Amino acid sequence: MPEPTIFKKIIDGEIPADIVYEDDQCLAFRDVNPQAPVHILVIPRKEIASLAETDDGDQMLLGHMMLVIRKLAAEMGLTNGFRVVANTGVDGGQTVNHLHFHLLGQRNLEWPPG
Ligand code: IMP
Repeated sequence: MPEPTIFKKIIDGEIPADIVYEDDQCLAFRDVNPQAPVHILVIPRKEIASLAETDDGDQMLLGHMMLVIRKLAAEMGLTNGFRVVANTGVDGGQTVNHLHFHLLGQRNLEWPPG
């Protein structure tokens, strides 16, 4: 068996996280190394390595996670806008191989990213 990712350990309650939302499909917690005043990671409970590893059967899950992000952004008061990022694979700069969406806000984010 491969070593569980750090996010799987958070799902299983083996390591602590600052969880801001959870339901039967996903959970959201604050990034340990925030890149903006609001920096939350939204992850599925299902073990999916990245967006590239999703399939058509994940349509409902992915849509659900987007709606959770919208609700979190509203709850966090991100009325001036926010950014959602899914770093994917080596070129995408992904460092944890469990699908996650970054929700970043409360500062003016530049484009393009590095
Ligand atoms: P990636 O580079 O898109 O894969 O993002 C992984 C993110 O996970 C980074 O922003 C890290 O700061 C964050 N991270 C890594 N370990 C933890 C943790 O234990 N708790 C919360 N965030 C973490």
